[in-house]
Amino acid sequence: MPDPVFTLMIEPVKACDLACRYCYADNHWKNPMDLDILGTALARVCAYLDQTGHTEVHIIWHGGEPLMAGIEFYRQSLSLISSSFPDIPLRQFIQTNGLLLDREFCLFLKKNNFEVGISLDGPKEIHDALRIQKTGAPTWAKVMEKLDLMADLDLFFGICMTFTNRSLNREKTIFDFFTSLGRPLRINPLIPSRRNKNKNLLPSSGDYGRFLCRIFDRWIRTENRRIPISPLDTYLSAISQGGAPECRHRPSCIGNHLGIRPNGEAVLCSPFDVLILGSILEHPVSELYESSACTRIRGRPKSIPECILCENKPVCHGGCPQFASAFGGAIDDKDPLCRDYKLIFSHIRKALASLETGIPAHG
Ligand code: SF4
Ligand code: SF4
Repeated sequence: MPDPVFTLMIEPVKACDLACRYCYADNHWKNPMDLDILGTALARVCAYLDQTGHTEVHIIWHGGEPLMAGIEFYRQSLSLISSSFPDIPLRQFIQTNGLLLDREFCLFLKKNNFEVGISLDGPKEIHDALRIQKTGAPTWAKVMEKLDLMADLDLFFGICMTFTNRSLNREKTIFDFFTSLGRPLRINPLIPSRRNKNKNLLPSSGDYGRFLCRIFDRWIRTENRRIPISPLDTYLSAISQGGAPECRHRPSCIGNHLGIRPNGEAVLCSPFDVLILGSILEHPVSELYESSACTRIRGRPKSIPECILCENKPVCHGGCPQFASAFGGAIDDKDPLCRDYKLIFSHIRKALASLETGIPAHG
């Protein structure tokens, strides 16, 4: 059985206007994706969905910086998308650093129901140490101006934060800052980059899990204006109600997730660019999933001895093959964030048990 949702990640450009200190992206194609490539990709996905049981499509515009493709690219893309998927519920997301947003772009995104994710790593001192322009100039103040613009125009947006060792022991400051913004928050761990030396920003094993536990303790006690925080909310519901929360914890992303690079190369998702599945111009989608690498990824949860015996398997499924690869392992190795997952899963279980018994799990 496939997941109900098929996720299509499109990279309209592979270029960026920033030079973040931890960036993993291979940003060297400035020209936007040719619309013929996009049209072929959409037609192939549409034909694939005719054969599967997916009931919803999510399109995630990613990069590089996807707004660099320009508003005209999106205008033309939208008409291709609406003619390709006339009969299936569709949600569109765009993940951006926000700096190219102006009034016209915001109104366009709002009119077309885009759900916008803005990259922001926390208060000024944390964000500006990491997310900088090519000149080295800081970006926090500019991003905050864009948040005000979006709020004024009533454009829905959430925030995506990357957790690095700069966030360590700053849980209260970070939590208070994001709570004051009142927007949904996504917390992503920093993953090693092959092209950029971001080792000096990588947290140690377990730091991400401990950070999530401390944020969880503040978040769960918040009575007024509790913001959605992912992955805490998805972990909480997966543990209390069952099911796997997100792509990296599903039995397999094969068959349910596809990324398209500007030249038509297909990947599982945009960070996983060491595993090129083939060109969408040359292969139907089902063929792209037939490589031996995809077979190995499909079999991961059943082939990792520690995962087979793990109590977290129903919510974790061995984690993400891209993370395993980025940390220097094989795609069918256990996710190197295993220790972090164990910490937060066990913390949430204890919190749920304490709610049932009335005995506090922590002081
Ligand atoms: S490789 Fe990992 S992040 Fe990419 S789609 Fe698969 S599970 Fe998700
Ligand atoms: S928590 Fe670790 S051992 Fe358990 S399923 Fe996840 S990756 Fe495997």
